[in-house]
Amino acid sequence: MPRPIMATVSVPAMQHNLQNVASRLRTQALRLHRPAPRIWAVIKANAYGHGLANGLAGFSEADGLAMLDLDEAVACREAGWQGPLMLLEGFFDASDIDVVDTYRLTVSVHGDDQLRMLEHARPQRPIDVNLKINAGMNRLGFAPSAAAQAWHRLAALVSRGVVGQLGTMMHFSRADDDPDETQRQLSGFLELTKDMSGPVSVCNSAATLTPELWAALPQEREQWMRPGICLYGSSPFSDRSAEELGLRPVMTLASRIIGVQDCAAGACVGYGHLFTAQEPTRVGIVACGYADGYPRHAGTGTPVTVAGKKTRLLGRVSMDMLAVDLTPIPEAGIGAPVVLWGEGGPSVDDVAQAAGTVGYELLCALAPRVPRHIIPAAAPNETAAVLATGTGERQ
Ligand SMILES: *Cc1c(COP(=O)(O)O)cnc(C)c1O
Repeated sequence: MPRPIMATVSVPAMQHNLQNVASRLRTQALRLHRPAPRIWAVIKANAYGHGLANGLAGFSEADGLAMLDLDEAVACREAGWQGPLMLLEGFFDASDIDVVDTYRLTVSVHGDDQLRMLEHARPQRPIDVNLKINAGMNRLGFAPSAAAQAWHRLAALVSRGVVGQLGTMMHFSRADDDPDETQRQLSGFLELTKDMSGPVSVCNSAATLTPELWAALPQEREQWMRPGICLYGSSPFSDRSAEELGLRPVMTLASRIIGVQDCAAGACVGYGHLFTAQEPTRVGIVACGYADGYPRHAGTGTPVTVAGKKTRLLGRVSMDMLAVDLTPIPEAGIGAPVVLWGEGGPSVDDVAQAAGTVGYELLCALAPRVPRHIIPAAAPNETAAVLATGTGERQ
């Protein structure tokens, strides 16, 4: 028998979360009397660790899919995805442009090198491009002072049939925690792009879930949101939970108790003896460790659920095991079910917070050795039921 650890990936939860985002956008658009923005579902990093095929199934209703890796984009096309596919970092080498052309990919162009490669390319069909402007993140993108010139060079490529639809994009650095800075970055971008045309894409999950922000976007230009993390049921905000946002966890990491130790007061647990029992303590050993992707920095007190009851982690996480407090759960023995995060357990964000990181990192870092169980897409009539339930956000 394999170790009793399993990651369950719920495709219906992905469908639900996409629908949650889409119906928020529709509601806001109605309120503002403008067309609903479109959605690039971000599936980079193997769909944030959930598997590309599951991302394709879960986000089949998205307007487009966005990722980084050329191979991932090709895999989506070969799996039958007909809609737009965007490479968020564009291409890395001139030879990539042939693949972009063959597979009809949309690219971001964020720097001079890429622009030069495109100027030398002779694609069969015009390539859709989003000019990426650095609005304050200082990661990728043309500096504000270089944006207008880059736009003119790309516009010249439109006339030559090298570039097809030409739009603009940017990426916020603080949409999750600093509304004033975010507003400044948006205003700067809008000022720079006011004479440009085509689709606009600025919003990650945090910005997509902040309607005041995108209400400020120019309504005469087509808007494309780029939500990622929220579609996987994790909150982009530290002060608002995924549950409060009506999002459902997509990944559930579960295991079982494989050992029990009755510790007297004064006994210590695990490597480094980081936990010392203050009173008699029943310790459960769970088949899950950092080699499975559970964060080693999670310490005593990190939430975990055993046999349906909340308890806490004890001491240091080992490579293949971790210890939990079974004192309040006397009925739980060997074989008792444990939820590390997800449905029926703490949220991935709670565990991440205890480990000083974010849900993104834990989801992406799930180790390949953990077996996956996939809950398939809801049948069409069930999908209709999912659609009918709307966002499910708590008032
Ligand atoms: C990852 C990424 C997103 C999605 O961000 P989330 O915070 O996961 O919503 C959007 N745009 C770009 C350019 C990205 O790299």
